[in-house]
Amino acid sequence: MFDDVYFSALGGLEETRHVFIDGNNLPARWVDQSRFTVCETGFGTGLNFLTAWALFEETAPADAVLDYISFEKYPLKPEDIKTYLAPWNHVFGSRLDHLCREYPMRAPGFHRIVFLPRVILTLIFDDVNEALPELEANVDCWFLDGFTPAKNPEMWTQTVFENMVRLSNKDASFATFTAAGDVRRGLEQAGFEVRKEKGFAHKRDMLCGRFTGPGREKKKKHKSVSILGGGLAGTACAHVFQQYGLDPVLYEKTLELGAGASGNQTGLYNPRLTALRDPVSNFYAPAFMQGLRSFSKSKDIDFHPCGALHLVTNEDKKKRFAQTAQNWSWQEGALQYLNSDQASDIAGIELDHEALYLPQSGSINPKKLCEAYAEGTEIYFNKTPALEELKTDAVCLANGAGVLDICANLPVHTVRGQVSYVAPTSISQKLKTALCYSGYISPIVNGEHVIGSTFQKWLTHTDILEEDHETNLSKLVEAVPALYGLKAQHGWAALRTTSKDHFPVIGHYKDNVYMSTAHGSHGSLSTLMGAHLLADLLRGGPLCLPKFSVKALTPDRFFK
Ligand code: SAM
Repeated sequence: MFDDVYFSALGGLEETRHVFIDGNNLPARWVDQSRFTVCETGFGTGLNFLTAWALFEETAPADAVLDYISFEKYPLKPEDIKTYLAPWNHVFGSRLDHLCREYPMRAPGFHRIVFLPRVILTLIFDDVNEALPELEANVDCWFLDGFTPAKNPEMWTQTVFENMVRLSNKDASFATFTAAGDVRRGLEQAGFEVRKEKGFAHKRDMLCGRFTGPGREKKKKHKSVSILGGGLAGTACAHVFQQYGLDPVLYEKTLELGAGASGNQTGLYNPRLTALRDPVSNFYAPAFMQGLRSFSKSKDIDFHPCGALHLVTNEDKKKRFAQTAQNWSWQEGALQYLNSDQASDIAGIELDHEALYLPQSGSINPKKLCEAYAEGTEIYFNKTPALEELKTDAVCLANGAGVLDICANLPVHTVRGQVSYVAPTSISQKLKTALCYSGYISPIVNGEHVIGSTFQKWLTHTDILEEDHETNLSKLVEAVPALYGLKAQHGWAALRTTSKDHFPVIGHYKDNVYMSTAHGSHGSLSTLMGAHLLADLLRGGPLCLPKFSVKALTPDRFFK
């Protein structure tokens, strides 16, 4: 691609050190900083990232944090990265393996990886011109590394230069291997002081410089956080906040975790499927990748990545799912539009519908996930403290509709949902994947299928209703006649919280109060992504989601 090289054959690592590390006067610029943010155009193999990571660990203060942001339109496969960087394996130690292990699915959008509490990568698989305007960050240093301007002018645009100005801290530096006149002029016009330095090896010149404008306002930082609510929203916050080195304390009003809507034995995880790449999909898609990485590392949560077939049961879904497969453009095989024969083969039972297939979807045990998430966090049960009693820097409301006690006019409400657990039949036991239609069924988990779910805004109790079992079973048989004859053995009901616009409410509320609520029926993913977003807001770090998704999530959207 672009007929240019990722790095110099004469010594990729030496070139990185010369151009980007020395060119930005690192490590001197971070030795007295508690946080340092690098933003790179062109992640490629991650050579620059691994070099900065290793150097940061060697030279930055022990409690300092490196936030590294990088854009990549054409992500490499992790196995190729491993091969390309093999010559420097000894320099990077286990970091190269760590990168390849955590490397996200090649799907457009923002991906957040927390390698260590002090090394945090925001990897954005997208065209830099599309995604940089969606970034919210305070940048100290720019690595401009996107193939030579003559061969790839798209990487050196006015959009890039203007957004560098928008995101730069006071005295932010930049360095690049090129000395092209257009780049020099673009950066100067935008407000950077530019100088020429000797280029690497045979290259005569390269450019370095400094932002001379006022720079961004410093973000407020919180360290200790009280979390109200011991369901998935609260425990995911506890788990994620610990990863970033924050100090969470959790308060749960009952005597157990997952006492409310997160207390199900078997819950499916699926992104909400939209036709376009929009604020909704740019939240649920990275949440799905985040979920996959996190669930596979959690112990004892009944993680079954059995795959899910989203059945095309009407014309609207036919149009929408075909567009989803095309517009989301996930790596090959990760999102497939199948005909009914292909879908039947994968399901293991006869299906009359086409389907959108996500081979990595599946199920977890939400209640056990709450317990796994809460490990290592100080928890107080049977307690609903008043905000004034809490002595932490910040408070995070993650208690479902309980947020209404503090924010009475937030347009959230509960929706009752009942699921039915059924014993397998000779046909249903062949089912290998989850099936989603207007309801859903799981393959056998712990000897049973779970079939869900009802949606009753008008009911506020959690008694098990025979007519709800009938509703669940009749929706199943309508979509999948082959599964006729299943009988409900027992059920589980809860009140989920949802918002007026059916999107979660995650963000800053007022003063030092934050919230994560209204997760509706995709909560196993949205609670996790929400926790990362809140961690960023609390620590004052770059945001792990594009601006338009953050705006669609914030509680403020209802008050403006
Ligand atoms: N920094 C990389 C490393 O450490 O391996 C090498 C970067 S390589 C010279 C340039 C990278 O920019 C390539 O991986 C290329 O796919 C990416 N790229 C090119 N055009 C882009 C664009 N418009 N938006 C985002 N990335 C782009």
